[in-house]
Amino acid sequence: MKVLVPVKRVLDYNVKPRVKADGTGVDLANVKMSMNPFDEIAIEEAVRLKEKGVATEVVVVTIGVPKAETDVLLTARAMGADRGILIVTEDEVEPLAVAKLLAKVAEEEQPGLIILGKQAIDDDANQTGQMLAALLGWPQGTFASKVEVTGERVAVTREVDGGLETVDLKLPAIVTTDLRLNEPRYATLPNIMKAKSKPIAKKTVADYGVDVTPRLTTHKVVEPGKRSAGIKVGSVDELVEKLKGMGVAK
Ligand code: AMP
Repeated sequence: MKVLVPVKRVLDYNVKPRVKADGTGVDLANVKMSMNPFDEIAIEEAVRLKEKGVATEVVVVTIGVPKAETDVLLTARAMGADRGILIVTEDEVEPLAVAKLLAKVAEEEQPGLIILGKQAIDDDANQTGQMLAALLGWPQGTFASKVEVTGERVAVTREVDGGLETVDLKLPAIVTTDLRLNEPRYATLPNIMKAKSKPIAKKTVADYGVDVTPRLTTHKVVEPGKRSAGIKVGSVDELVEKLKGMGVAK
């Protein structure tokens, strides 16, 4: 079984985002970009399936700028993916268009399983996996904390409000990863060197004939409001008095 893992290049999670002066978005000039953390979890899961002998090949795909080849696809291959597909675009591609492109890749590649991150930490859309499942007509197990493939089926455990829910899906299926699914391995330097010889196919959006024209208009992006400084209280009584004063306690 082939596993396809879509990965997105996003602002590194350690970098404090700076909003552009004109309020049109986050400034991505000269900042560190990395793989979306949930996608690292997706690759780790796919590579573990290969190590268990369940998957035969792990293919990563990203839709993004040419630099994604080194920022994202190299790391993915160093973690254990066998080959990469880079669909080059300089434009921002919205989740629906990403899902349409991924559906075309799935038609070509015929994977048994597609593992995506539950959300990309830049836009927090949490839409692509669900839209892809709808476009392909495949079952989906979202926010997975455990994935077990047995024969033609996959059991996906999900953390829901009341506890753990397990859904049983027929392959081919879509899974999206939650934080507790696994702890991704590091891409070590020797593996990064070796990964350079693993193949990459370079494509363009036009190769897939998908209309990626944006459908959403961003009105304004602003910095989060500044938090005002806290104060120290000397005793519990003083704390209660202050809370009363704020109308929080009676
Ligand atoms: P989102 O719906 O944007 O929150 O993203 C959810 C997941 O879809 C991500 O964790 C990735 O697995 C995948 N994805 C989103 N955007 C892209 C992209 N440009 N290229 C490849 N995969 C993507």
